[in-house]
Amino acid sequence: MASIYPKLILDALRNVRYPGTGKDIVEMGMVSDDIHINGMKVNLSILFEKPNDPFMKSIIKAAETAILTYADPNIEIKGNIEARTPQVEQPKPAKLLPQVKNVIAISSGKGGVGKSTVSANLAVSLAKKGYKVGLLDADIFGPSMPKMFDVEDARPYLEPIDGKEYIIPVEKYGVKMLSIGFFVNKNDAVVWRGAMAGNALKQLIADANWGELDYFLIDFPPGTSDIHLTLVQTLAITGAVVVSTPQEVALADARKGINMFMNDKVNVPILGLVENMAWFTPAELPDNKYYIFGKDGAKNLAEEMNMPLLGQIPIVQSICEGGDKGEPVALNENSITGMAFSTLADNFVEAVDKRNKQQPPTQKVEVHNK
Ligand code: ADP
Repeated sequence: MASIYPKLILDALRNVRYPGTGKDIVEMGMVSDDIHINGMKVNLSILFEKPNDPFMKSIIKAAETAILTYADPNIEIKGNIEARTPQVEQPKPAKLLPQVKNVIAISSGKGGVGKSTVSANLAVSLAKKGYKVGLLDADIFGPSMPKMFDVEDARPYLEPIDGKEYIIPVEKYGVKMLSIGFFVNKNDAVVWRGAMAGNALKQLIADANWGELDYFLIDFPPGTSDIHLTLVQTLAITGAVVVSTPQEVALADARKGINMFMNDKVNVPILGLVENMAWFTPAELPDNKYYIFGKDGAKNLAEEMNMPLLGQIPIVQSICEGGDKGEPVALNENSITGMAFSTLADNFVEAVDKRNKQQPPTQKVEVHNK
């Protein structure tokens, strides 16, 4: 059996001309150096400058024929020639919020399930545990963070850093916070149009001095909207927390929300579910549980979808009052409600760690509209 060697192949390929140039493909440097020979089997690559070179197929065919004709008719070459085109170098995106370790979407399928209450209390609970926490109220339909943190009259100011003006987040209970609500008069009925809201939120992310953060929580608007897409395209989100009550109608919407995050185009992992308003416990009967919205609905959904249940928060008057007074119950770690949020925070930290071990945080992507 004839022995096959690279020069034999190259010489055969000198019979293949690139149309219109009068030169052969070896002369033109189109045959890659790494010709693999294994017995009678030969693998090689032909390099094409353009991915859509109109002669690609015919040159590969001609190269196969030339090898069989001029080198050896028994060479196994059919299907073994790879057309290679240069990798288009994607420009590396600049890092947005490089000092932020984890960006978290807090979401719900429908409004009124306590997404903002959970966001505020989770933020406070994490801050009390010593983490550096930022909170962006992106709920354009009902920005409630200024009230929940009792900073309704605060107006974030601007500070120049290296010649550029940055928005300085308001700081309360150890949490750095910005809300779309700071920029509209609360008595004006403002209808934020998609693009306008998207741009305003991008500014609150990119043009604010958030500094170093362990967790940057974003209180998303309820449901699924263009705003969700804008936010997931603006920065790499570590994962989403989905809040739902145990009620069937809320769960159906939560499922839609989960599917949106898991959709190929969005591709944000779900860190887990939070069941809010899991049961009612009257202050005078702290051991009694009344399952007003049904029992374990979100817990069962979490099991069914194979995701962790991060916490079950009861309906307690103090949670509602705390929200209205601007003093989140998580401030009092010894209360039953404070403990519920503290457990949620512990499970949340664990879920984020687990997620980061599976896949390190991805590159943050620069906003496009600057
Ligand atoms: P969302 O952000 O989902 O629209 P909110 O957080 O604004 O919902 O909550 C809706 C209402 O329910 C608020 O008045 C809030 O104080 C109240 N609330 C939320 N969670 C609880 C709870 N676990 N116990 C008592 N009241 C709650």
